[in-house]
Amino acid sequence: MSTKLLLKNDHVANINKLEVYKQHGGYASAEKAIKTMTSDTLVDEVKKSGLRGRGGAGFPTGMKWSFLAKPAGVPRYLVCNADESEPGTFKDRYLMERHPHLLIEGMICSSFALGANTGFIYIRGEYFYIVPILEKAIEEAKAAGYLGNNILGTDYNLELHVQVGGGAYICGEETALLESLEGKRGNPRMKPPFPAVAGLYGCPTVVNNVETIAAVVPIVAMGGDEYAKIGVGKSTGTKLISASGHINKPGVYEIELGKVSVEEFINSEEYCGGVWKGRKLKAVVAGGSSVPILPTNLILQTADGNPRMMSYESLGEGGFISGTMMGSGGFIVMDETVNIAENLYTFNRFYHHESCGQCSPCREGTGWMEKLTHSIISGHGKPSDIDLLWDLQTKIDGKTICPLGEAAAWPVASAVRHFRADFEKLIH
Ligand code: SF4
Repeated sequence: MSTKLLLKNDHVANINKLEVYKQHGGYASAEKAIKTMTSDTLVDEVKKSGLRGRGGAGFPTGMKWSFLAKPAGVPRYLVCNADESEPGTFKDRYLMERHPHLLIEGMICSSFALGANTGFIYIRGEYFYIVPILEKAIEEAKAAGYLGNNILGTDYNLELHVQVGGGAYICGEETALLESLEGKRGNPRMKPPFPAVAGLYGCPTVVNNVETIAAVVPIVAMGGDEYAKIGVGKSTGTKLISASGHINKPGVYEIELGKVSVEEFINSEEYCGGVWKGRKLKAVVAGGSSVPILPTNLILQTADGNPRMMSYESLGEGGFISGTMMGSGGFIVMDETVNIAENLYTFNRFYHHESCGQCSPCREGTGWMEKLTHSIISGHGKPSDIDLLWDLQTKIDGKTICPLGEAAAWPVASAVRHFRADFEKLIH
């Protein structure tokens, strides 16, 4: 049984209510942070914990926080990225629906660490039904003295606001999110400057994902050193995995990083319960649609024959030749009946639709990749189309303003590299 930190109270009825949340230790971290710690010591604890951003990039959270500029007289902001739109990823939705106070408490601890007096939760438009859940939790926390002015009798003030996005995938990119939050079209900004220097309304801003912010609560409770003992190597703590596709038990699972193999995750009753209908495993997208798709032999084992583990390092072992990425933890399992070219068309269509259109390689390239894969899967492809597809993704990867370009290119590269036979089957 894995260590549970974020979902440890998942079995508790009405854990979304402040009273119940408090009965199970809720808001003890907020109180500890505000009453007994300074901003700097809290940042240090998060640094010691080794927590990495849970939204996809895996950047060390404490380091990101330490980049925050602190010019006198200028407000700082914490923005929670709840624009969870990566196909195959739904763990933030689960956290917000079931455990809204965990997120609010994480926002309080994180805002205190950053010296922010205003925080925003930017939630994707399709999650509109979660907004009242969050607003209710904020209202309850405020009434209990955890938000507002002079929190818990101290001189710390914090207001939280929920802002609903329009439903664009690109607004999950932090600078596009900030543009949208400012009321503009959600186009990614050129970096630098980074949000830590010039973010929301030009002020220093930290943007963190829902799960990342929630993880600050157990870090404050147990201390950074203790948190760092959970997990393996630089993959510290726990991670929520959204498991979907051809498995018997789709759902959100909390794993201790590095302690569960991919094979165990797919086959054990504690997690996915095996590939459905007794079929064989064909491929896995381990971290949301933006990461390389791996065939069975490579997802279950690394190139040196060791079991591949559910950690940042192990999933990444072999680079993009034989490895993949942890990404957002959107774990999509595909059985032997799937033709990867058909699956890729769905991804290509998605990225073309979601491209903001600012840069030509992404705007034109994603459209071209969509057309090519559509032509192949509808029986009109030519043998040269497979190489053209490969060539196209090389013209996008690394040549765009924001990571959506790479997110569109990497699944194409891995599909052609590992599943060429699937494309050839459809070309007559
Ligand atoms: Fe827009 Fe795509 Fe360029 Fe990102 S990579 S800025 S989504 S056109």
